[in-house]
Amino acid sequence: MTVVTKNVEETKILAKKMGTIIKNNTTFHSQILLLTGDLGAGKTVFVKGLAEGLEIDLNITSPTFNLINEYEGNPGLMHMDFYRIDSAEEVFNLGIEEYLEKEAVKAIEWPQLVYKFIENDFILIKIENISIKERRISIKANGVRSQKLIKRMKTDVDIRD
Ligand code: ADP
Ligand code: MG
Repeated sequence: MTVVTKNVEETKILAKKMGTIIKNNTTFHSQILLLTGDLGAGKTVFVKGLAEGLEIDLNITSPTFNLINEYEGNPGLMHMDFYRIDSAEEVFNLGIEEYLEKEAVKAIEWPQLVYKFIENDFILIKIENISIKERRISIKANGVRSQKLIKRMKTDVDIRD
């Protein structure tokens, strides 16, 4: 599905809806979300909205420097950002495999070097700048579970495909 948001709030509302669906169905509690888009596209904004839906009240900050931020919850949230990482080996050395095994939603910015470590069921969120405040957000599913999640988004959210 593709949605155009007109401002930060709309991006957060869309992400919050996804977070709420995840929270309300334990099947999705280990969901992997890969976020792509240029610097400043809105990946971290999306994760903030997602956290709202997950009812995680902590302030979400960009993990550009710490690489992985973990937030407790039911489910918890792991927010990763591999912008500063140059190789899959570095990702491996961070202990990525252990992190991915935990029951928590994993939101991963700059996921290019992570693909080889993740399971085959994930959601890909691509954010593109249209103008200063408009973003085109394409959400795609890979795998049956993720497809189910997107189907729920479409039925629960009043937006056209
Ligand atoms: P990224 O994590 O992709 O590098 P951020 O989420 O940190 O980007 O920053 C996105 C920037 O774009 C913020 O400054 C935000 O205010 C701005 N912005 C403007 N319009 C939007 C929108 N429609 N959705 C998301 N962010 C937006
Ligand atoms: Mg970011």
